[in-house]
Amino acid sequence: MTKKLNLSPASVRMWLECPYAFALDRVAKVPRTQRVITPQMHTGRAVHTVLEQIAKQPELSAEFAESSLERTFSWDAYADRAEAEVAFQTARERLATWLVTPYGREAGQLLAVEKMLRSPERDGLVLSGRPDLVRIYPDDTIEVVDHKSGLCTPSAEELKGEPQAAIYRILAEVHWPGYPNYRVTFSYLATGTTVPVQFGREEVEAWWEFILDVAERIRKARAQVEGDLHLEEAFEPQPGARCARCMFRKVCTFRSV
Ligand code: SF4
Repeated sequence: MTKKLNLSPASVRMWLECPYAFALDRVAKVPRTQRVITPQMHTGRAVHTVLEQIAKQPELSAEFAESSLERTFSWDAYADRAEAEVAFQTARERLATWLVTPYGREAGQLLAVEKMLRSPERDGLVLSGRPDLVRIYPDDTIEVVDHKSGLCTPSAEELKGEPQAAIYRILAEVHWPGYPNYRVTFSYLATGTTVPVQFGREEVEAWWEFILDVAERIRKARAQVEGDLHLEEAFEPQPGARCARCMFRKVCTFRSV
């Protein structure tokens, strides 16, 4: 019997970038205390938490948003107070930009906020993801919105090549089936811009096939480890620039930086 495997956008991406990182996460299960959570990740999380509060209670004011950010911000994650102040200012700017052009707040009807979505099992694979919010528009378009707090703004074509957009698209149809249009929109808080991504039926199926193939390769590598192959032989490390932002860099002996 095929062993059930649950994959999220982050875990598929991790496998594609460095299978060894995936193995440290899901096979070796490196404890949280040995992982490196970058201050930028804390900052992004703080902004997301405030946006979630506002999505759930749209009547909340800009003043509330700012004071909530101050409370939610992980001041202790930074090495010194000056560094934390700079990061907090960045977070404030992201929030302020969004409050001027609050994508995902006003149009359409809200269906879900930070809700964990899961697909039914297909060949032993379950897809899951927690998008920031899901809305439905008067023209019956279901839209998944994901806020990004980084500086980079990829093109729609680049985003279509990423597992996150594809998995959110799949999950939207699983949970709200039968609608004529599904869209995944990435909202970039640094610039106030949005990039919508849409998939044709064949593209959705091609992504399913691709991720099923990833799942199969993960199962094989796991079986090799259970058969006493070393973790790094079954899940090949891919050191490179990514090591600088890898949460396992403290415990990984293959890191390049
Ligand atoms: S530090 Fe580099 S090689 Fe090691 S797990 Fe992370 S990405 Fe892979």
